[in-house]
Amino acid sequence: MKFSDFLLASALLLAPLSLSAQHGHGQGHNAAGETHAHKAPHGGIVRTAGKYHVELVLAGSQMTVYLLDGKEQTLANKGLTGTAMVLQGGKTTSVALAAFGDNQLQGALPAGATPTTAIITLRRGSETISARFDKLASTSAKAKVTSYACPMSCKDSASQKPGSCPKCGMALVKKA
Ligand SMILES: [Zn+2]
Ligand SMILES: [Zn+2]
Repeated sequence: MKFSDFLLASALLLAPLSLSAQHGHGQGHNAAGETHAHKAPHGGIVRTAGKYHVELVLAGSQMTVYLLDGKEQTLANKGLTGTAMVLQGGKTTSVALAAFGDNQLQGALPAGATPTTAIITLRRGSETISARFDKLASTSAKAKVTSYACPMSCKDSASQKPGSCPKCGMALVKKA
């Protein structure tokens, strides 16, 4: 048996294990195209990263990253470090991700354009987990929740659902 055949055979042997056993939610997992839908437990964008998933949440200039297992259960951030290479307005910046709380990694984006691509690399011991997030500008625009607010701009009137203002009782209007 040639060495290249041996590699191929090993890959075939390993493939069913990593695809079906580690991945509870869908068939035909395609790491490049991400053809299957992910639940995104924190409302962000989920990408497959080997036997894991990485979820990216962008809120203004803050990026929050979660490491999820094969079934999209959030994992603790213990021992995790990370960096993000962010493409923003034609410039690439390296953003350090620091542990926050018990399951987040947070980083601050440089001020400016909405990022279009982020490549996130997480490390834990000798393990490297990396995921690429493309077309971020359009994805985050789509992910925006339509929200409602009092036409009189009362404080605390913002709501995810239509209804009436808790302060003055006027019907909430959809924000642009
Ligand atoms: Zn997946
Ligand atoms: Zn009001």
